[in-house]
Amino acid sequence: MIKFKKDIIYFSNELIRRGLVKNTSGNISVKDEKQKSLWITPSALPYEKLTPEDIAEVSLETGEQLSGNYKESSETPMHRAIYLHRKDIQAIVHTHSTYATMFACAGVEIPAVHYLLAEIGDQVPVAPYALFGTEELAQNVIHSLQKANGVLLANHGVVAVGTTIEEAFRRAEAIEMGAHLALGAKMLGKINPLSTEELEQVRAQFANYFQAKVAK
Ligand SMILES: [Zn+2]
Repeated sequence: MIKFKKDIIYFSNELIRRGLVKNTSGNISVKDEKQKSLWITPSALPYEKLTPEDIAEVSLETGEQLSGNYKESSETPMHRAIYLHRKDIQAIVHTHSTYATMFACAGVEIPAVHYLLAEIGDQVPVAPYALFGTEELAQNVIHSLQKANGVLLANHGVVAVGTTIEEAFRRAEAIEMGAHLALGAKMLGKINPLSTEELEQVRAQFANYFQAKVAK
């Protein structure tokens, strides 16, 4: 339990350090299989001030806050809905990172211009706009996450999911990098995304690569 809280604090500070969010925007959660709950950053509290007691615990079943010094993140309904609909997901990272959010504001999906985007999907889709914190936004995101491990929220930001917090964070970074590269490529005159087949080959290589890292 304390590990979940420490991980959330560490990666919340990494969000700021790596420029993926500003001030108190964005949020991170981890699913706690044993307790049937999720742990999430609190609402509107600066990341650098977070202590383990500030991380909010919310029941997956009822959505009720169970512990934590502050009210849970306003995007908790979206996090909870994702865990309930995709049982493979153990962690979620939500950012407003600049380049990816540019695509979200334009309503344009990010094409897989770089092989690191392969673990997100054939592209990074855009979930239709809905007011932050609402069930409607949660439903839009779930729909887009059926075929991807990351999604742009129209006029809002990014959601990346993973089987670990490290994986979800890495994917949030890959989406931001992909948006930056896609924009640059377009400015140079040509977007040249990888094909479905090429992306499949990358995924096969990734399976070996990440397993190899774990094995050592
Ligand atoms: Zn947000």
